[in-house]
Amino acid sequence: MAKPILLTVDDDVDVLRAIERDLRSQYGGDYRVLSSDSPHGALDLLNGLKLRNDGVALLLADQRMPQMDGIGFLQAARQIFPSAKRALLTAYADTNAAISAINEANIDYFFLKPWDPPSEHLYPQLNDMLDDWRASYRPPFQGIRVLGTRWSPSSYELRDFLARSHVPYQWIDVEGSANDPETKRLLEALGPDASELPVVLFPDGAKLLNGAPAEVAQKVGLRTRAETSFYDLAIVGGGPAGLAAAVYGASEGLHTVIIEREAPGGQAGMSSRIENYLGFPSGLSGGDLARRAVVQAKRFGVEILAPQSVVELRIEGPYRILKLADGSEISCHALMIATGVQWRRLEAPGIDQFQGAGVYYGGGTTEAMSCKGEMVYVVGGANSAGQAAMNFSKYAERVVILVRGDSLSSTMSQYLIDQIKQTPNIQLWTHASVSQVHGDKHLEEISVLCTDTDKIERVPATSMYIFIGALPRTDWLGSTIERDDRGFILTGPDLVGEGQRPKGWTLDRAPFLLETNVPGIFAVGDVRHGSVKRVASGVGEGSVAVQFIHQYLSKV
Ligand SMILES: Cc1cc2nc3c(=O)[nH]c(=O)nc-3n(C[C@H](O)[C@H](O)[C@H](O)COP(=O)(O)OP(=O)(O)OC[C@H]3O[C@@H](n4cnc5c(N)ncnc54)[C@H](O)[C@@H]3O)c2cc1C
Repeated sequence: MAKPILLTVDDDVDVLRAIERDLRSQYGGDYRVLSSDSPHGALDLLNGLKLRNDGVALLLADQRMPQMDGIGFLQAARQIFPSAKRALLTAYADTNAAISAINEANIDYFFLKPWDPPSEHLYPQLNDMLDDWRASYRPPFQGIRVLGTRWSPSSYELRDFLARSHVPYQWIDVEGSANDPETKRLLEALGPDASELPVVLFPDGAKLLNGAPAEVAQKVGLRTRAETSFYDLAIVGGGPAGLAAAVYGASEGLHTVIIEREAPGGQAGMSSRIENYLGFPSGLSGGDLARRAVVQAKRFGVEILAPQSVVELRIEGPYRILKLADGSEISCHALMIATGVQWRRLEAPGIDQFQGAGVYYGGGTTEAMSCKGEMVYVVGGANSAGQAAMNFSKYAERVVILVRGDSLSSTMSQYLIDQIKQTPNIQLWTHASVSQVHGDKHLEEISVLCTDTDKIERVPATSMYIFIGALPRTDWLGSTIERDDRGFILTGPDLVGEGQRPKGWTLDRAPFLLETNVPGIFAVGDVRHGSVKRVASGVGEGSVAVQFIHQYLSKV
């Protein structure tokens, strides 16, 4: 924890050094002593400390300084650090000015120069002031702070990324807390930069304007570039299937890398509570599962690049070469595709402009707390929608689940249906589909087509979370890897029609289970044709595939 600061200001460098030395010798163990030889320099320094979220305990300024006197400085400094103790250093001739400053400018104390011996004329009074300050001091948050607005898609993207990457941060909604004096002070300290939201403030004093996940990732030490250019096993996608493959691969000695477009955890990372994963009788959140899996993978030496996308695949003899979004390339002997599925977009006029500003696809765990006292709409009838509704019901005034059918029974697990029935602020709206969305800067209302009556109802809605099925995004594989007509990857037995091996297949064996039409390239989890869309099955496939990879590598 950074020590709080004692700041002293004097244009007379000899006096400045003397007071600095005395402060440091007495208080250096508990405080950092900083100094400035000009009031304007000191105000700049204070603005910088505000952005770093440092605590300032004491401001000690000489009264006679050119451009700005000590009282003027202490008054200006009070706008930045209102709870810091303020004291003047004065010559005997300025005693009257100092006394009136105590009365009129709320200055705590004045010290006469010279203050020798400090044990009599400086420390006792300062001890008193600092004890007083300590009594009401709450150490400031020492991590990353993100300033943005609730309805900004880029703020949402960044917060979602940080949360899913398990990077602790403090969120400051500059609109929602516009009347909070501390927010005002922070915005003033930022000056014109405050318009470049989202602004990310780091504890080392660095700031990022218009912060994007990739830049923040680099700054907090998340790896986006590979350490070497060749791996035994490269895994595209860091969901449950990819993470499981990485743990098994690396624990069995394969030099392994995962490339993940967003944050490790995949869809599972968006789940507020997974209740059907073996070994966790009271369930666990997807974020928790992802965090544990990442720690486990790293322990075995897996490199995780995130956020980083794979955009192209090329085959050169025994090498499988991946082109990444930043233009770099990674080659490997064995490749595993574990890219899962992405949410299908809801077709409704006007919806795209509100994505991240009231309209969200998937989880929304980041947003749940912001929905306090609001109406939340959840579109879809599968387990993912049910889990989200249960999570939002803890914060929202009311959660409405919109489904096209007449019940949840054919699409949702019974345990979730039961939980929903027992939750008074969740309402099920059947025979309903969203036909239009409305709002100015963010979502304000939705129109719902009631298919049983053919009527359209327009209702207020600040947040709508959409869970309407998902499709794989496998276009980046070009024509190299065989897929079904919806883009799911064909593997093993699916490729061997009527005893025929896949086109171009040259080996004297058939493709292994989970192997694609290119030897050494495997597909696991939700992206695979015919897969069971569950965490456990993705984990199972990722783990099993590693056995086939060993067999493949033994003959490369
Ligand atoms: C809200 C929600 C709740 C759920 N609840 C449950 C539950 O309770 N129980 C259960 O069993 N299942 C549940 N599921 C389903 C389960 O999460 C999925 O079946 C599982 O996550 C699939 O794992 P996967 O690794 O195959 O793919 P995903 O989890 O989809 O992971 C794929 C990863 O690949 C990345 N990726 C995609 N393309 C690229 C690329 N080109 N380059 C780099 N990376 C890429 C993606 O960013 C993603 O992180 C839930 C799903 C959701 C969305």
